[in-house]
Amino acid sequence: MADFDVIVIGGGPAGYVAAIRCAQLGLKTALVERWLNKTGQPALGGTCLNVGCIPSKALLESSEIFETLDKQGKQHGIKATSLEPDVPQMIKRKDQVVAELTGGIAGLIKANGIEWLRGQGLLRPGRVVDLTDLKGKQSNHSAEHVILATGSRPIELPAAPLAGERIVDSSGALDWESVPKSVCVIGAGVIGLELGSVWRRLGAKVTTLEALDTFLPAVDGQIAREALRQFQQQGLDIRLGARMTATKLNKSSISIDYTDAAGAHKLRVERLIVAVGRTPNSESLAAPEVELLLDERGFVHVDEQCETNIPGVYAIGDLVRGPMLAHKGSEEGAAVAQRIAGQDFHVNYACIPNVIYTHPEISWVGKTEEEVKAEATDYSIGLFPFAASGRAKAMEDSVGLVKVITCATTDKILGVHIIGPHSSEIIGQGVMAMEFDATSEDLAQIVFAHPTLSEALHEAALGAEGRAIHIPNRKR
Ligand code: FAD
Ligand code: AMP
Repeated sequence: MADFDVIVIGGGPAGYVAAIRCAQLGLKTALVERWLNKTGQPALGGTCLNVGCIPSKALLESSEIFETLDKQGKQHGIKATSLEPDVPQMIKRKDQVVAELTGGIAGLIKANGIEWLRGQGLLRPGRVVDLTDLKGKQSNHSAEHVILATGSRPIELPAAPLAGERIVDSSGALDWESVPKSVCVIGAGVIGLELGSVWRRLGAKVTTLEALDTFLPAVDGQIAREALRQFQQQGLDIRLGARMTATKLNKSSISIDYTDAAGAHKLRVERLIVAVGRTPNSESLAAPEVELLLDERGFVHVDEQCETNIPGVYAIGDLVRGPMLAHKGSEEGAAVAQRIAGQDFHVNYACIPNVIYTHPEISWVGKTEEEVKAEATDYSIGLFPFAASGRAKAMEDSVGLVKVITCATTDKILGVHIIGPHSSEIIGQGVMAMEFDATSEDLAQIVFAHPTLSEALHEAALGAEGRAIHIPNRKR
């Protein structure tokens, strides 16, 4: 008999959710996790809680409060004689938030009777997991089922090797204790934009180099153009079609070489953030005899229900295909646990929300206008600008818009795209509508509280039918 029903390797949002759901379903479960936090203590929560979603949002919140008070305080009737960021306190608060949340996960693991095997796991044939514990001691543990959830790590660029506090990846950029005068961010993806925003708000001059000519290619074009305009107005210097080719560490600065359509250029900054994407942690996860199949980019190959080529071995989260998002991994974790327990696997990959937590926030679900057009679907669009939202005006935060895309024949909602205040909260309603196969008429018939930002979604749905109230409707 195996030692466990299920062993989960990796305790990030994919793995710890899988473990909790397995335990809830009565399966004897172990969770293998090797993470040591800043104080050298073992910690759960993976990238998301320790160096990803949560700490970035903590610093985005602190820096946004600072910038709002600094730039809009007077208008709101708040006088302050002097305002300056206390960066060590911001970092301390961020670390406290992380400690509370990771401690909470450890509590949940214990409360659910899950055995936390602290250390590095390696899959061997026959669903045996070799554990090298934090002191280097080896042991092995067998299971009926193994769930691989070892996540991902930042991609490194040989042309910009990490160098202490001066050239950092996303984790390093969450720990600076002072505001650099100038920062270059390589990569205008989600992480680069969020981290660039934090340090710009706190006073750094931020230049972002992006190799692609298109800004945010996965985002609806209209929303991406508006986002670029807003970020540039805020002072974020985003250079598109600009590929970093080399860096040099000088005594007190970094020289960066990059090329664009006009030729070769040099940039000199105090600090550099490399944010060029993430790569799956798949190479030292399984012994070669296991013959675990990977795809050409190193992601573990899985079927539509997250089973690998090895029977009884599953893989979830950033380690496998699909968007590298915490909630996508968590849903896969819960679904795999249910599958193991003989229940249904359910993840609706067409309805996974995406959010960029800049200001304004950018959120979307479903298809972009470009995708709908490419499919030759006959579609309608409903648009509502936050400039016409009473709540947004009252907040002094009325930049952006809501865009609802519907099928012109069935009225079914195909996509919801928002750039604007707290859009990360509004998008949930779009996700719910799409999950329930709603039409814009369904959304139009729902009563939304006034004044709320969500009313903009209501009005955009009305607009798709040419009957918005608070803006003139376009001729149909
Ligand atoms: P991870 O969170 O990477 O966890 C994997 C765990 O496995 C790690 O703890 C690792 O130590 C452990 N592990 C690896 N190998 C082994 C081994 N052999 N043995 C034992 N343990 C092992 N996503 C969002 O949805 N929203 C956001 O706002 C967001 N913001 C982000 C901001 C930043 C700066 C970054 C870097 C990422 C952000 N993400 C965000 C992405 C999100 O963090 C990831 O999608 C998510 O953490 C993936 O979860 P996971 O469980 O698959 O992997
Ligand atoms: P993401 O994968 O969404 O985090 O985005 C990372 C971005 O970094 C992508 O848009 C890449 O085009 C960009 N990128 C990768 N390498 C370079 C480079 N050498 N110079 C500038 N941008 C880069």
